Amino acid sequence: MKGTTSAGAQRLGLIPPYLFAEIDRKVQEKKRAGVDVISLGIGDPDLPTPQRIVSVLQEAAADPANHRYPSYFGLAELREAIAHWYRERFRVTLDPATEILPTLGSKDGISHVPLALVDPGDVVLAPDPGYTVYVTGALMAGGEPYIMPLEPQNHWLPDLDAIPAATAERARLMWLNYPNNPTAAVADRAFLEHAVDFCRRHGIVLCHDAPYSEIAFDGYRPLSLFEIDGANEVGLEFHSLSKTYNMTGWRIGWVCGRADLVALIGQLKTNIDSGIFQAVQWAAIEALNGGEDETRAACEVYARRHRLVADTLNSLGWSIKPPRATFYVWAPVPSGYDSIRFASHVLDEVGVNITPGVGFGAHGEGYFRLSVTAPDARLEEAMARLRRLKL
Ligand SMILES: *Cc1c(COP(=O)(O)O)cnc(C)c1O
Repeated sequence: MKGTTSAGAQRLGLIPPYLFAEIDRKVQEKKRAGVDVISLGIGDPDLPTPQRIVSVLQEAAADPANHRYPSYFGLAELREAIAHWYRERFRVTLDPATEILPTLGSKDGISHVPLALVDPGDVVLAPDPGYTVYVTGALMAGGEPYIMPLEPQNHWLPDLDAIPAATAERARLMWLNYPNNPTAAVADRAFLEHAVDFCRRHGIVLCHDAPYSEIAFDGYRPLSLFEIDGANEVGLEFHSLSKTYNMTGWRIGWVCGRADLVALIGQLKTNIDSGIFQAVQWAAIEALNGGEDETRAACEVYARRHRLVADTLNSLGWSIKPPRATFYVWAPVPSGYDSIRFASHVLDEVGVNITPGVGFGAHGEGYFRLSVTAPDARLEEAMARLRRLKL
């Protein structure tokens, strides 16, 4: 009987188990065994969502007008708040009616964009190491991922000129993500100009995943893709409130850019979800309209923690600089370890959870990622424990 098989669909067999689900299982096991695990594994802000945003949600949640199905395309007020934020932050003009689509967190947009734009056999260019959803999203759509290695000698930027011409011709999408998870690298204007030019020449949709655009230090302000001339002809940009306003649990972000592409993603999503709880949308409007004092204050906290981690690792023989953006530290594993063995060693010996670089792709081997999104006291304790680690 067909219906009784326990095997999933073939497409599910194409994708490896989600790294963080695997690691979480191991951490839970340790906790059950009584170990006080400090998790620096996942990039999930420990700081709370600012109270003014929570208050708007509380009020909006009590209003029956928000209890019904929301619009598929988001409240007009939210799209206008996003357009206003973009203009203030980047001096970029977007049409709120056609060039902006709110999403259930940016992962919603990122995972679904290949279903809207990629046909079986189309190539999807994805950075490695990188956010795993770029590759799994492509596979779910029957696309063919092509890995663009990120390497330290190239400042963790892909070498676009190394992509074979025949591959570029078959490519439908290119993923870029700066400031970058997991490497904390940033992209300069010249690189983004080169990427826009490359994608225009080859007819590729350039998808820029930018959830860390506001998490930057010492006066550094990351660029929007749309600050680059011609990007509006080829590009989509994915943003999120998750990292900027400590709202990972709220599930709200957006995709913006070329109107015809945004419309196709919208068309797909009308068949998948039924929009974003309106109370959350009102809270998002409050977030975007409220200025950036809280975000700047959070960045001060991250910058201080980055210095603590860099000082600790450097005193143990590493040689790293605090990053210019993101809440990640990306560092090489000590010699004699691969990244999974090193992460297991750290978890087993001192109860600190870090992420093996290989979890972000084969080119992440030899590195680990540590997130400074743990409360100060826990991060300090984790650093004290690392000082006791035998390598
Ligand atoms: C956190 C993150 C996202 C997704 O965030 P959402 O919570 O879904 O908005 C997307 N891309 C990268 C690279 C991230 O680190």
